[in-house]
Amino acid sequence: MAALHDKFGRAITDLRISVTDRCNYKCVYCRTGNEGALYGDLPFSDYLRMARVLVGMGITKVRLTGGEPLLRNGVVDFVRGLAQVESREPLDIALTTNGHLLADLAQPLKDAGLSRVTVSMDAVDPDRFTRITRVPGGFDHVLAGIRAAKRAGLGPVKVNGVLLRGFNEGQIIPFGMFAREEGVVLRFIEFMPLEEDRTWSPSTVVTLDEILARMAEYLPLVEIPRGASETARRYRFEDGIGEIGIIAPVSHPFCGHCSRIRITSDGKIRTCLFSVWDHDLHAQMRRGASDEELAEFIRGVVQKKEERHHIGEADFVHASRTMVHIGG
Ligand code: SF4
Repeated sequence: MAALHDKFGRAITDLRISVTDRCNYKCVYCRTGNEGALYGDLPFSDYLRMARVLVGMGITKVRLTGGEPLLRNGVVDFVRGLAQVESREPLDIALTTNGHLLADLAQPLKDAGLSRVTVSMDAVDPDRFTRITRVPGGFDHVLAGIRAAKRAGLGPVKVNGVLLRGFNEGQIIPFGMFAREEGVVLRFIEFMPLEEDRTWSPSTVVTLDEILARMAEYLPLVEIPRGASETARRYRFEDGIGEIGIIAPVSHPFCGHCSRIRITSDGKIRTCLFSVWDHDLHAQMRRGASDEELAEFIRGVVQKKEERHHIGEADFVHASRTMVHIGG
């Protein structure tokens, strides 16, 4: 079957599946309102069928997201099911988690077939971490989770940190030190307008250029060439110890090479993080569609994929869902 391409010629090879929109954290840049879980979850067998059809259409990477995916009982068995999906090449199965529940699940996830894990962590100072997540005592859980993931061989373990002016831009150098000490790959992310009560403004964004200038005060960096659809600009420290990356959708958009589509926890396809449309794949399943009919529906949806986001532009329209209800 021909690989999936959108009308801009971009190959769609990366699938992100949100397995719940519940979360046990209340991060200040995401859960800014009181929405809580809105859309609910589906049985894992439904996500598995969706993934099977999409892998047959050329998807090579599947990333599990949330809310917080490790809140779902059965997530280990779901990974095992994904690892058994027939595909042309071994499926690259990854997970993004806040790490709070990771310490006990890292080894079972690895044994089930998980390849990689990314931990969202927005400060390496425990007090600042608590100020951001609004969950006391979470820092130690997350650190234990990161170390357990490394022991389990879920490497390279990535740590994603969203930077927010006035909250944690002072953590840039401590994060660099942490990454070198813990042997994790750091990814800074520019703050995007996907929070619950729409308070984002360009002034709250700590940009790629600022991050690089700040980190260079600590140690010199050398840029690493990146793959076509890679979202991060990558740098290693000149002394060879440690790597950082910066995902800069606001100041350095990378939509031109976007290879992603997402499935929400309630089974809707989102063609872009900032889309104003949801395409109800689960409704097709409920009406009894065959796998071929699902593939046809997906192909039609992908033709509607947006060319790019319009953050900061006059015609920018907020996405129809906030981040916690989409998954990264
Ligand atoms: S904003 Fe949309 S088009 Fe751009 S990289 Fe993200 S998902 Fe892709």
